[in-house]
Amino acid sequence: MGLRLVFLGPPGVGKGTQAKALAAARAIPHISTGDILRAEVGAGSELGNQAQAFMNRGELVPDDLVVAMVARRLAQPDCADGWLLDGFPRTGAQAAALEKHLAQTGENVDRVLYFRAADEILIRRLSGRRACPECNANYHVEAMPPRTEGVCDQCGSALIQRPDDQEDTIRNRLDVYRAQTRELIDHYRAAGLLTEIDSEGTVDEVAAATAGSLEG
Ligand code: AMP
Repeated sequence: MGLRLVFLGPPGVGKGTQAKALAAARAIPHISTGDILRAEVGAGSELGNQAQAFMNRGELVPDDLVVAMVARRLAQPDCADGWLLDGFPRTGAQAAALEKHLAQTGENVDRVLYFRAADEILIRRLSGRRACPECNANYHVEAMPPRTEGVCDQCGSALIQRPDDQEDTIRNRLDVYRAQTRELIDHYRAAGLLTEIDSEGTVDEVAAATAGSLEG
C-alpha cells in the first residue's frame, strides 16, 4: 500500500524542506502546489499568467485553478503508489475537492502532518530564505547557507529571493494562512488524521520528528 500524506502548516515553517527529504526517502512524488505554480509562471503559461498576481501579493490562487491543477497531477502514473501533498489543500473548499477526488479513485489520505512554529521564527525563516528558480532547492542565509554564497549547490544556478518573501508580503501570507488555512487543522484533527510536529528545531531535528511520527 502506498503512502498518501498531506503536509500542513504556515509559510516558512520548513514543510517544503521536510517534504522533499521524506518524499525522497519513501520514493513517493513530492507535489508542491507552490513549486508547480512558480514553474507555470516561469513558463508563461495561461495558468501561470492567471496565478502570478495572486502569488506576488501573497494571496491564494483561486480554488478552481489549483484544484484542477492538483487533479491533473494526481492522475499521473507516478502517483499510483502514493504521494506527498505540500501546500495543498489550503482552504476548506480545496480539502472538500480533494476528498471528492479520492472518493472517486478509492484512495485515502493516510496522515496529515501539521508543522508548527512561533510567528517570529516563521518571519525569520522567510526573510532569510533564498530559492533556486531552476531546481526549487531552498536555502537560508544563516541556517542553511549554500556552499558558495548565492549559488545553488544542486544545479549551480544563481539563487533569488522569492518576490513573495519580501517583508510586506510575508505578513500578508501569514494573515491569509490564519484566515483561510488554519481551519484545516481542526478539520483533520476531527477526522483523526492529524499529527503535530514541533518545527522550531533544526532541519535534522524536525526530520527526525517527522520520520518518527510515521513509525508504528
Ligand atoms: P508556497 O510555495 O506553498 O508558499 O506557495 C506560494 C504561493 O503559491 C502562495 O502564496 C499562493 O499564492 C500560491 N499557492 C500555493 N499553493 C496554493 C494552494 N493550495 N491554493 C492557493 N494558492 C496556492
